[in-house]
Amino acid sequence: QACAVIVGGGHAGSEAAISLRQNGFEGRILIVSDEPGLPYQRPPLSKAFLAGTLGAEALPIRPAATYEKAAIEILNDASVSALDLDSRSVQLADGRRLGWTHLVLAIGSRARQLQVAGLGERQPDNLHYLRSQADSERLREQLVEGQRLVIVGGGYIGLEVAAAAQKAGLQVTLLEAQPRVLARVTAPDVSSFYEQVHCAAGIELRLNAQLEQVCLDASGQAVEALVTTDGARIPADLVLVGVGAIANTELAEQAGLVVDNGIVVDEFSRTSAADVYAIGDCSNHPSMLYGCRLRLESIPNAIEQARAAASAIAGKPTPYRAMPWFWSDQYDLKLQIAGINQGYDQVLIRGSKALRSFVAFYLREGRLIAADCVNRQQEFMAIKKLVQAGFAGNAELLANESVSLKDLAA
Ligand code: FAD
Repeated sequence: QACAVIVGGGHAGSEAAISLRQNGFEGRILIVSDEPGLPYQRPPLSKAFLAGTLGAEALPIRPAATYEKAAIEILNDASVSALDLDSRSVQLADGRRLGWTHLVLAIGSRARQLQVAGLGERQPDNLHYLRSQADSERLREQLVEGQRLVIVGGGYIGLEVAAAAQKAGLQVTLLEAQPRVLARVTAPDVSSFYEQVHCAAGIELRLNAQLEQVCLDASGQAVEALVTTDGARIPADLVLVGVGAIANTELAEQAGLVVDNGIVVDEFSRTSAADVYAIGDCSNHPSMLYGCRLRLESIPNAIEQARAAASAIAGKPTPYRAMPWFWSDQYDLKLQIAGINQGYDQVLIRGSKALRSFVAFYLREGRLIAADCVNRQQEFMAIKKLVQAGFAGNAELLANESVSLKDLAA
């Protein structure tokens, strides 16, 4: 009998399992997850769940009944320690072995650890990374009014936690090594908008801040201050590190799969080995839209790659062509990003930064390649269409508020 083993019970793993059944796969479907419980959503972990406005019951991606109805088995607290491609089996850390006819690697990524002087082997009790529900619960317990939180990293996670912590009444300092926040992903205009918003909310923003040392207290179990290379000593009651994620590729490498900034797959999520697929954060796929390879860390990507893998396994191959998109919530601001702005040579602004409602359009050689939309939910569908189509008409029309983007996209 056919048996699809899905390693990893995150967003990609959950979607692959459901999509396999929807595509008519009749064999056994087994999700092997090293976490407890049902597959859950990670985005709220730095947003509403951390802020306490969304409960744990709202985190699962789907209710248990959906998996039961689709005869999908979930093996919790089970870590795969090795892949055996010859015998078509996976080895679990507890010694068990599971056979497969199709293997899907949905093992995600993990938080990059801080490499800095002063940190020993053991993670201090008040130093946090944010990847799992357990991480978010642990951090939330320490988000106590009046405490001094130092955030290392001005990417999405750092900024989202800053907003949640500020709401909870903490004193927040954010250290960013680059000259601006979100430097890797947005234009300077958008970075400066977010810097102003955070400063106005009372966050102390320190740009160009290179960490030199972490100082532990007398017990050696808690951080009491962070020192930057310019000699500043920043006292901390707790610390959140958000300095990026690393793809989990070790299992694949050990099994001899091709790995290059993620497990290398094609547009059907197929790896270099027969009947072995990789999806979501851990994989690196060819983008039809941009003509390059991408490793993306986003929910829409996890879902689309999972669907491509499931369709291929079920014998109805449908390539992954969807346009990448992403979102981030900070304060009253909903940022929605369509496309990838890599290599842009022109930025056009539509709307008003002062009114906290605008779009930054990114163009390359006159062609629209991406857009950052702040509080522009109504226009987002049209913007996605324009990016997907690579709009190359009169660029000034994009910035002109009296021109309907819906009409432009039609
Ligand atoms: P993961 O969700 O990482 O799931 C992989 C699973 O595999 C994990 O449970 C892991 O423990 C398990 N696993 C790993 N190795 C093994 C093994 N050997 N055996 C068994 N199990 C294993 N994306 C957005 O689009 N919008 C957002 O606003 C957003 N916000 C985010 C906020 C936070 C705090 C975080 C952490 C991420 C956010 N993301 C956001 C990114 C998004 O959550 C990820 O891109 C998505 O979860 C990737 O899904 P995945 O299934 O590929 O990987």
